[in-house]
Amino acid sequence: MAKKVSFFVFWLVQASALLVFFVPFTWPLVALWAVSHFLRAMGLTLSFHRYYAHRSFQMNRVARFIWTFIGVAAMQKGPLWWAGHHVNHHRFADREGDPHSPMVSGVYYAHIGWFLNDAKHDRIEATNPVIRDFSKVPEIAFLDRYFFLPPLMLAVTMFAIGGWPWLVWGFCLPTMTLAHSTFAINTVNHMFGSRRFDTIDESRNNPITAIFAVGEGWHNNHHRYQRSARNGFYWWEFDPTWYAIRTMQAVGLAWNVQPVPERIYAEAKATRERRAKKNDAVSVTEVVPIGLELAEDAE
Ligand SMILES: [Zn+2]
Ligand SMILES: [Zn+2]
Repeated sequence: MAKKVSFFVFWLVQASALLVFFVPFTWPLVALWAVSHFLRAMGLTLSFHRYYAHRSFQMNRVARFIWTFIGVAAMQKGPLWWAGHHVNHHRFADREGDPHSPMVSGVYYAHIGWFLNDAKHDRIEATNPVIRDFSKVPEIAFLDRYFFLPPLMLAVTMFAIGGWPWLVWGFCLPTMTLAHSTFAINTVNHMFGSRRFDTIDESRNNPITAIFAVGEGWHNNHHRYQRSARNGFYWWEFDPTWYAIRTMQAVGLAWNVQPVPERIYAEAKATRERRAKKNDAVSVTEVVPIGLELAEDAE
């Protein structure tokens, strides 16, 4: 029953994004979409992903509650459910047991199917580190259980302030775009992009998903070294979540912020150099076409 309700609500909100064609278009409303999309995206990446799943930093309890609340407002279920599944994603990365791998389950299931009706991997063991450590914290357990409250509050607030235009631009449309921005990390980032590191999974770096998922698009970096609070390993890899964590650290709201170790940078450099050498070798064999020489000898 609960599954049927969440299935219905999910598709209702997805379809409601189409209402954008029936309400006015103004630049302030586009700005409202951007705030609602990007702020909640950061709630997800900063708290659900980099804090609960990877513990890449510690943060103040009030700050944690606020970021978690914002993350839950994204309408992607609760922090324990989300981060618990994510731990399993890394554990099995693109092998049997990965809750959402396009290689194992196909693109639709990896993108949406697993989220709606995870018949295969919907159990998160009590030994899962996320459940083990965070389910005892009352405010987090509450948000995980009543995960539908923050998005409902957001929708009601939008409607109360600005009627249909605010509901559509501030809730319906950004909730849809945010769902696909997050899901794209599981699909697009395991199919399209570059691989700085030769990880055993199919993870890739993709600058476009990095924009819409506020820094999560540097996914090959992240699969290589999950513990770092930054997913963009270099200054030119746009990672707004990392800038937010750094800002929190500067004002004392975050600490134990995990860096990218020197050995990982050294590995990136070594891989780059090895590939460059390999490419040179390929071009040498192209200059001397062995097959052609043999053909001439035969004449
Ligand atoms: Zn991944
Ligand atoms: Zn991760």
